[in-house]
Amino acid sequence: MTRAILLGTLLAVGGLSLTLAAGQPPAGPTAKALAATKIEKVKDNLYVITGSSAGDQDAFSGGNVAVFVTDSGVTIVDAKLPGWGQVIVDRVKTVTSKPITRIINTHTHSDHTGSNEFFGASIESIVQENTKANMAKMDEFKGKAQFLPKKTYKDTMKVGAGKDEIDLYYFGRAHTNGDTFVVFPSLRTMHVGDVFAWKALPYVDADNGGSVMEGGKTIGKVIANVKNVDTIINGHIPTSSWNDLKEYQQFLSEFAAFAEKEAKAGKTPAQASDEWKLDPKYKGYVVSVNPMFGGARTNMDIAYKELGK
Ligand SMILES: [Zn+2]
Repeated sequence: MTRAILLGTLLAVGGLSLTLAAGQPPAGPTAKALAATKIEKVKDNLYVITGSSAGDQDAFSGGNVAVFVTDSGVTIVDAKLPGWGQVIVDRVKTVTSKPITRIINTHTHSDHTGSNEFFGASIESIVQENTKANMAKMDEFKGKAQFLPKKTYKDTMKVGAGKDEIDLYYFGRAHTNGDTFVVFPSLRTMHVGDVFAWKALPYVDADNGGSVMEGGKTIGKVIANVKNVDTIINGHIPTSSWNDLKEYQQFLSEFAAFAEKEAKAGKTPAQASDEWKLDPKYKGYVVSVNPMFGGARTNMDIAYKELGK
């Protein structure tokens, strides 16, 4: 999610409106959000810190954070909203005494990078190169270049070795133009960030290079190239399966194909989004998790723009 959208949502929450209107940072953890932010075991030495449901902004702390406990320290994937660094540390302390030594961000948005700064300028931090460029444009990092990620990669990067190995992949545009897929091969698990945030139409950030037409193709490349993964850590819902990822790939590809067909038939984006219906074969899906995060019309408008219509 983008900061602008997030702030718009927070403004709807009465108690925060004065603080935000005065240009202050978000008020930080509320009791309800703290209660929703739990650390849960995924497998062995891999955990997820929750509180990520975009459907309940009162309890929202940012995207799911993966916590990977290695011999040399703890790697976290994503860093929630600004103001949540200490909570991340506190949750990690309940499962290990090792320090957090590395941050990997799946993409630029402040609900995934907001607390990077809390961990200091010298922590090892890694993103895809386009995401570093996107982060450099964010208000959160204006005049704070020392907190931008230190390491970048273009297509793939391996960090650690043996059971502590982490493989990073970039496969093209989807949620943004810098989405990293973070694979923990020893645990057959992959954090996919907001490329598969929820079982609904996506929020695609066209301003940061995201693409409605490419999203399904990008996940198709993940499915063709990444092996031996059975568990998915999603951006904003509890963990899902490899088959769920395949199903989501089909869902996005069908939406893109529908947009293309409607555009060719001379339909307007309004007509096309009215005619698009959520296929009941997608069990547990909704059109949109929150009207602010990309329903059919928003996705159709972006698709039409990409199609040159
Ligand atoms: Zn996002």
